[in-house]
Amino acid sequence: MASRFVDRAVIHLTAGNGGHGCASVHREKFKPLGGPDGGNGGNGGDVLLVVDANVHTLLDFHFRPHAHAGNGKLGMGAHRNGAQGETLIMKVPDGTVVLDNDGEVLADLVGVGTTFVAAEGGRGGLGNAQLASKSRKAPGFALKGEPGETRDLVLELRSVADVGLLGFPSAGKSSLISVLSSARPKIADYPFTTLVPNLGVITADDNVFTMADVPGLIPGASEGKGLGLDFLRHIERCAVLAHIVDCATLDPGRDPLSDVDALEKELSLYTPSLGGDLKDRPRVIVLNKIDVPDGKELAELVRPLFEARGYKVLEVSAITREGLRELTFALSEVVKEYRAAQPPKEEKVIVIRPTAVNDRGFKIVQDPEDEEAFFVIGRRPERWIRQTDFGNDEAVGYLGDRLNRLGVEDALARAGAVPGNSITIGDVTFDWEPSTPAGIAVRMSGRGTDMRLEDHSRPRAVERKESRRIRRDGPDEIEGGMVESSAPVERDR
Ligand code: GDP
Ligand code: MG
Repeated sequence: MASRFVDRAVIHLTAGNGGHGCASVHREKFKPLGGPDGGNGGNGGDVLLVVDANVHTLLDFHFRPHAHAGNGKLGMGAHRNGAQGETLIMKVPDGTVVLDNDGEVLADLVGVGTTFVAAEGGRGGLGNAQLASKSRKAPGFALKGEPGETRDLVLELRSVADVGLLGFPSAGKSSLISVLSSARPKIADYPFTTLVPNLGVITADDNVFTMADVPGLIPGASEGKGLGLDFLRHIERCAVLAHIVDCATLDPGRDPLSDVDALEKELSLYTPSLGGDLKDRPRVIVLNKIDVPDGKELAELVRPLFEARGYKVLEVSAITREGLRELTFALSEVVKEYRAAQPPKEEKVIVIRPTAVNDRGFKIVQDPEDEEAFFVIGRRPERWIRQTDFGNDEAVGYLGDRLNRLGVEDALARAGAVPGNSITIGDVTFDWEPSTPAGIAVRMSGRGTDMRLEDHSRPRAVERKESRRIRRDGPDEIEGGMVESSAPVERDR
């Protein structure tokens, strides 16, 4: 399988942290108790992978695998919001496939401008000015900024080349790419030997184009022989298909015409996933190995037969380099014509987010080893935990309110939780005290490993004046101890 991939890099990305919100009270002469005026922290910057037409390899990532986006700045008094952290854009070649550490494909980045949100910046925390409400006129706390996401990803480049080389094994595809390719001087530096035979960058005067081997296409490929038809996905965007024909093969039963026919038959059995038809793609016949006397003779014999079928035919030798200049320019011309004939591309930029941003749900999972322990799993409750300054009673009370409004308390009760059970959200564990009007009274237990909790192990009740609840819209599903819940709409911050 390794030969399918021309390039590979493992990268380690850290998005920016969100800035903390600010808790501050407006001060003025003769008016000592003004309103809360703490600004919000800025959001941390995202790390984006963006397909760029001028990037052809993953080489840079091999040498610089670590990348960080900018942190959001702190909110400040007088309603000053912190600046957003800078987004980090990493340019990747067209055809880059993004995988996680387990080899699962997360995205296939095809098309210039296609963007993958590889690591999301942490949200900035709200300042106390934003947290003020009727019932909480002067909050003495602010929300913490969330840490940015950290991700390890594997990038693999599957060739999306201008010229796709078709041909029987040993026809000379790899040899031709290496002698035609201007990228060749880099071979010695290049850590991935597989790149060299599979992808070449070719320069013909002012035109630069790429050429890729299509090793999967052998007779029987459509029945799953060899690599099957998988690899053809990567030539769907080729401007031209070049048949590399071995004119010096000693295999009985093979000759240039039947070789080409056999591969064309396999090709016709492939349905392009991007639409269109490979039949319409221009073909060039490259008769290789004319340095061998028998090869030259055979090439001259079959040339008019191919031409009679309407093909452009070139005779070359990858060994003596005869005919290579003509081949380079002939391919360059067809590539140019093809590009010129393409309808102007609408800039349709696709943005791929690996995680659902509008995930408002959460679920309750009972610890399989401890029936008195439950986990609350969901993006929002977990975020709220990270935003909470556990050294501030008011901030903890606010957290209790938010969880309650989301329906966490009801869901816990439905899942079978009883007072005193331990509830874990993210990296924090509480004792559940549903008897207070607020729903969740927060008492730290020894379970949490979070350093923030070490100083706050005493029981702590949450004060609440108001016990209004927002009802959920629909009934929850309860399945094997799991409760899925959708939450009422609330500002997602
Ligand atoms: P591929 O399987 O199509 O990639 O073929 P390769 O490029 O690996 O070449 C297969 C064999 O054919 C190698 O031993 C090459 O040295 C040889 N070969 C390739 N091109 C030529 C050529 O133009 N003339 C001669 N005599 N041998 C060639
Ligand atoms: Mg080869």
